[in-house]
Amino acid sequence: MKDLNIISDQTATMPDQPYQARHFIDGKIIDSADGRTSDRISPSHGVLASQAALGTAKETEAAISAARRAFDDGRWSQLSGKDRATVLNKVADLIEANEERLAVLETLESGKPISQSRGECGGAADLWRYAASLARTSHGESHNALGNDILGVVVKEPIGVVSIITPWNFPFWILSQKLPFALAAGCTCVVKPSEVTPSTTAMLAEMLVEAGLPAGVCNIVLGYGDPVGSLMTSHADVDMVSFTGSTAVGKAITKTSGDTLKKVALELGGKNPQVIFPDANLEDAADAVTFGVYFNVGQCCNSSSRIIVHEDIADDFVARVVELSRKVAFGNPMHTDTQVGAIVTADHREKIDNYVATAKDAGAEVCLGGGPLSVPGLGDQFYQPTVVCGVTPDMAIAREEVFGPVLSVLTFRTLDEAISLANDAEYGLSAGIWSENVHTCLEFGRRVQAGTVWTNTWMDGFPEMTFGGVKQSGQGREIGSYGYDEFLEVKSLVMRIGRTREPWVRDS
Ligand code: NAD
Repeated sequence: MKDLNIISDQTATMPDQPYQARHFIDGKIIDSADGRTSDRISPSHGVLASQAALGTAKETEAAISAARRAFDDGRWSQLSGKDRATVLNKVADLIEANEERLAVLETLESGKPISQSRGECGGAADLWRYAASLARTSHGESHNALGNDILGVVVKEPIGVVSIITPWNFPFWILSQKLPFALAAGCTCVVKPSEVTPSTTAMLAEMLVEAGLPAGVCNIVLGYGDPVGSLMTSHADVDMVSFTGSTAVGKAITKTSGDTLKKVALELGGKNPQVIFPDANLEDAADAVTFGVYFNVGQCCNSSSRIIVHEDIADDFVARVVELSRKVAFGNPMHTDTQVGAIVTADHREKIDNYVATAKDAGAEVCLGGGPLSVPGLGDQFYQPTVVCGVTPDMAIAREEVFGPVLSVLTFRTLDEAISLANDAEYGLSAGIWSENVHTCLEFGRRVQAGTVWTNTWMDGFPEMTFGGVKQSGQGREIGSYGYDEFLEVKSLVMRIGRTREPWVRDS
């Protein structure tokens, strides 16, 4: 532990007071009717970061009925794309103006480094602007070759009221992958952030009001999966659920939403492999593997938590990754130079540690780390950079989402074997290939089961590039034009030109 790069002091300014996060229902920022709140203690600093109103069925019902009324009377869905885009662009400006305020709360509640919170919150403005551009440019299709007397037009219409439920690992980013796209499409929304990270979503309410979003178009209810989340997924007045979170909760949502046959879009977990061939640029590959496993302390659906390295280079490659891991700055997330912060909760840190201990018991070798990390002045809610070698495909650490700074190393000899190891998982979110041979890269890209495949890079993302998973990583897509289309229904308009229709009933 001595030879790790640990930062204990801080550069960012702590807020004077805990943030008071409240619901946003029918245009009003309000407390719960029963006055109950929940406290979020910062995992890194142990201080009270926020107090959030704790929603009940009463607030959830009120939010859903406000969204339903707002959709049905057309106050938003019947505006032009241009007018909707104007509001979304104003929200983007306000997000940028509030970047530091948002980032500090994101860091205190989640434990992630302030530089990443700034990138996540400020950078989210681009998602709002991209969604605004789709509000003006998306269109349906026309069919002008169905016969001289027929014109067919397929129009896109907003799907209706959308429940948006988000996790704690990228609270503001994931919110911005969903909400502006739903709003751009003309939908109205009820949003629930994770109970662990409610504040930045609650702060957005102030910006929506200032940007001129009509009351009731976006409603935010703070609270737990039960009762708030479950009512948002079962209520008859909700037309669609857009959920990001664990596969277990995603599966539960398909059941609760089934009675009313809502559309359900799910962004779930991943066990994402990077495959490294001997002809790759190994310096770049080692850096990308290090980034892929430690970014957001590995609490990332896209974490490259397993690598599949060619046997001939495995020892050298692991040695490079271990050397780089020692240089990564772990520690106080309120310091600008910190790259890896705290684990979100004590229970989660335990879970990560259990995966490593179980792998060790099963014969894997821990080449680096493998235990909690104590940061001077902040305590031990951190985890060491950890590399586990000699992992076999049957071990839990090779198959399940560890969601921590823990890399599992597997090896291969042939492309077929690499692809079969990569596909040997219940998940299928993302995958990566490192090779200078274009044929190897193309074949891998075609045969690997994943929603996104990175070639000689890792985790590059763009609002234009749609995102989502196959197998148990989810259903539906987010961002890009495909993500936008999730919030739309299509309707076929078939129109006869002139009185050419042959009567069906004949005179006898
Ligand atoms: P989680 O499933 O525990 O919670 C996610 C959200 O669902 C929270 O807001 C929670 O309150 C709510 N919830 C809990 N039970 C519910 C229920 N019965 N009905 C409705 N809502 C309910 O997930 P988490 O621990 O917050 O996040 C981590 C998980 O999210 C990981 O599995 C990760 O891979 C996944 N994730 C996926 C993506 C992606 O894009 N694929 C992105 C980020 C995170």
